[in-house]
Amino acid sequence: MEGFAEIRGQFPALDQEVHGHPLVYLDSAATAQKPRQVIEAESRFYESDNAGVHRGAHELAARSTMDFERARSQIARLVGADAREGHEEIVVTAGATAGLNLLATAFGNASQGSGGEAAKRFALGPGDEVVVSEAEHHSVLLPFQELCRRTGASLKWFGLDEEGRIRSDTADSVISERAKVVAITHVSNVTGAITELEPIIRRAHEVGALVILDVCQSVPHLPIDVHALGVDFAVWSAHKMYGPTGVGFLYGRRELLEALPPASFGGSMVELAFLDKPAQYMAPPARFEAGTQPVAQVVAAGVAAEWMLQVGLERIAEHESAITAELLKLGDIEGVRILGPTSPEARIGTVAFDVAGVHPHDVGQYVDSRGIAIRVGHHCAQPVHRHFGLFASNRASTGVYNSVEDADRLYEAVSGVRAFFGV
Ligand code: PMP
Repeated sequence: MEGFAEIRGQFPALDQEVHGHPLVYLDSAATAQKPRQVIEAESRFYESDNAGVHRGAHELAARSTMDFERARSQIARLVGADAREGHEEIVVTAGATAGLNLLATAFGNASQGSGGEAAKRFALGPGDEVVVSEAEHHSVLLPFQELCRRTGASLKWFGLDEEGRIRSDTADSVISERAKVVAITHVSNVTGAITELEPIIRRAHEVGALVILDVCQSVPHLPIDVHALGVDFAVWSAHKMYGPTGVGFLYGRRELLEALPPASFGGSMVELAFLDKPAQYMAPPARFEAGTQPVAQVVAAGVAAEWMLQVGLERIAEHESAITAELLKLGDIEGVRILGPTSPEARIGTVAFDVAGVHPHDVGQYVDSRGIAIRVGHHCAQPVHRHFGLFASNRASTGVYNSVEDADRLYEAVSGVRAFFGV
C-alpha cells in the first residue's frame, strides 16, 4: 500500500522490541493498536474542553457537547447511518457486549409491557423464535439465550459448513414464520468468514423478524453501509477499529429506535420524572444513554473513524487482503490446520489455526518468545470450536499496520513449533 510506512509509523505501540525481537502484532481481532491521532484526541479533550455534555450552561460544556455530537456524526459516516439532528441512528454504548445486552434487555422489557403499543413489535413470548448461528461470539449468544429464558421464546441457530461458514443457504428453513429476531455475525472472530447476508436478511424480513448484525469484526476491515445492507440494528466496539476501550456503538433504524423502550435508567435520559407516575423518556439516542457518558473516549473514537475514512476503507481492505493470503499459507505447514475459509475473498485476515499435538497456549508462548503476538484460547466462541472438534485454537489477526513480512515471521515461527515440542 502506498504510504504504508507513514501509516504504520503513526502507531507508537508498534515501535518496540519484545523478547529481543521487533514486535509483530497479530492480535487486532482482540483489540487494535491506536494511531497517535486517537491517543492525542483523548488527552486534548481533557486538556481543553472536559465537561459533562448536553446540560451545562458554560462554554466548556458547550464545547464538550459539540465534540461529543461531532464524534457521533463521524461514527455514523463510517457505517452510512443518519446523523442529522432529530434523526440520529447511532447510540453510544460501553462496547459491543453492552450494545447487544441493551437490545436483548430492551426486547425483554418490551415483552413485559414496557414502551406500550409501539414497543409490541419487540415483544417475544412462548412460541416465538430467536435465531443465531453456531459462529456467534458469546456476546451475541448469551444475551439472546437469556432473552429466550426470560420470555419463553426458543433459540434456533444456523449451522456451519466444513470451512466454518454460516449456512446462509438454509435461511428459508432455519428462519421460520415464528422468528422474531435474527442476531448474527457479519464476520466471525474465529474463522474470519464473511457471512453471506442477503438470503438471511431477505428471509428474516419476509417473516417480519428484526435483524441484528454483529459488525465488530467487519467495521475495522471492510467498507460497511448499514442502510445498503438493510439491517435493523448493528453493534460494534471502538477498540477494534483503532479507537479507545470502554466505548462502542449501536446502530438502529431511526423508526425502530423511536419505538424501542430503554434498557437502562438514570440521569440524562428523561424529559420528566415523577414520584407518583412513570417518567417520560427522551427521544433517541439520549433515551439509551443514561448516566454520564465516556465523552473523551467517544471523541477519540470519532477521530478513529475519521482516520479510517482518510486512509480509505477500500484501501484498508485491499491491503489486509494481501496479508490474509500470506497468513493462509500457514496451512501448508505440516500438522497445521486452518479453521475457516481457505479463499482470501471469503474472509478477512483473522486466521485461526490448530497445530496438531501442541496446545494453543504452548504455541502462543513459543511465538511470543520470538516477538509475535497472537491470541490463543476459545476466543469467546466455544460452539464454533466444537464444530471443528476443538476446545481452543491459535488466532493471528491483521490490522492496517501489518505487512506481508509480519505474516512471514509468523510462518517461520510456526514452522518450528512441532519440532520444538517434539511432536
Ligand atoms: N462480537 C465479536 C464478533 C467480537 O469479536 C467481539 C470481541 N471479541 C465481541 C462481539 C465483543 O466485543 P467487546 O468485548 O468489545 O464488547
